[in-house]
Amino acid sequence: MNLSSELRLQAIIDGTRAGTWEWNVKTGEVIFNERWATMLGYTLEEIQPLSIETWNRACHPDDLKRSYTLIRQHLDNEIPFYECLCRVRRKDGGWCWIQDRGMLVREPDGTPTDWMMGTHIDVSIEQESRQHLDHLAASVPGILFSFEMVSPVALRFTYVSERSYSYFGLDCKAIEKDPCLFFDAIHPLDSAAVQAAVRGCYTSLSEGACQFRMFVNGTERWFRAVACPIQDPLGKLVWHGMLTDIDDQKQLENTLAYLSITDELTGLFNRRYLTQSLNDAMALYQRYQTPFSLISLDIDHFKQINDSHGHLVGDRVLTKISELMKHRLRATDIVGRMGGEEFLVLLPNTLGEEAGQVAENLRLAINQSEYLAEDNSPFAVSVSGGVLEMTEAITSVEDLLRRSDRLLYEAKEGGRNRVLDEQTTSANQGLPTSLE
Ligand code: GH3
Ligand code: MG
Ligand code: MG
Repeated sequence: MNLSSELRLQAIIDGTRAGTWEWNVKTGEVIFNERWATMLGYTLEEIQPLSIETWNRACHPDDLKRSYTLIRQHLDNEIPFYECLCRVRRKDGGWCWIQDRGMLVREPDGTPTDWMMGTHIDVSIEQESRQHLDHLAASVPGILFSFEMVSPVALRFTYVSERSYSYFGLDCKAIEKDPCLFFDAIHPLDSAAVQAAVRGCYTSLSEGACQFRMFVNGTERWFRAVACPIQDPLGKLVWHGMLTDIDDQKQLENTLAYLSITDELTGLFNRRYLTQSLNDAMALYQRYQTPFSLISLDIDHFKQINDSHGHLVGDRVLTKISELMKHRLRATDIVGRMGGEEFLVLLPNTLGEEAGQVAENLRLAINQSEYLAEDNSPFAVSVSGGVLEMTEAITSVEDLLRRSDRLLYEAKEGGRNRVLDEQTTSANQGLPTSLE
């Protein structure tokens, strides 16, 4: 088939359903095709006579300004093509979105002519769906995002909703251009978890979630991301998901977690945490023979202290002894209040002999400290204690605590102000207690 180039060009233009424009930039003369008029709801005849004014009137003033700036840049050879998204008024008074593209016509030798030519394509549907997405994204309590893997270690965001700015001060378009802006803001301690989550849902092809901290204006905030990978029609794997700010929730969780393991009066660990730690230590011992020792301490004649000086002074004694112990123990030691005036110290990786010395030092420090009554008169306080090293013979945490109680009982029976261990239950005997 031998078709003329004019016929072929016409068929192509008709096929693309493009409006065409030709504009003499010197005279203002304009030629539109029929499709251009029908796109706006007119016939070509209705909008005669045509001139650049036809366009100037139809185009939204804000877009017109931008369009002329870009045309200027193109005519000045700053950009190779002219391209601009414009709102154009239809016959019915509504607006449609037009993708306007064109270029200066040149002679075969490159000499510019006075004519620019191009196309107008109605992109209202695409534009509206993008706007729907933006509106939807703006009403969701989080940041919507899509990303794809460009290499096993690099990700690229194909969409980030505008809320990214109010959430972490990063412009969504800037993140789309440079994903490092986002990834570099993730806390170094959490970046491995984020990578693992992405890899995890890559292999399982199912939804993945992770929590991580990000630096926002110099401070850390907790976020949670949920994403699901979907194979797009081109075969690419694209993750779609949402990121929410969980900082308040995380703070609350941390506070609750702290409260659930802390003794309110002394700030030491509470019975629940001590029992859990003992269970953990015992499991480690049973599996790897990792040694540990336990010190139990009970204030002597504490009831008498309360009775003589009042409950408030009693409380101060508890707090003072707690502080004293915290300062004298290693960071890995776990010191807590089992209840009342009884304390436990779990010493991981410590044999009985060393624990015995620690206990004796604590006893001495407590006994040598000064305690003040309401009238500032000093009084003395002593503790009795037991020291146990974990052995094969000890079968459970209950067994351990029972043995520890027995040592404590013997220390009290033996005259108080002393610590005993299972081997030398007569150690440190003979010291007078401060209140006797
Ligand atoms: P022992 O030398 O045999 O240990 O005698 P004790 O008086 O220390 O022991 P006992 O068990 O008879 O009394 C413990 C007292 O501790 C009774 C209780 O009122 C008091 N107590 C328990 N918890 C607190 C507390 O949180 N604050 C104060 N101030 N007193 C407490
Ligand atoms: Mg007591
Ligand atoms: Mg007691």
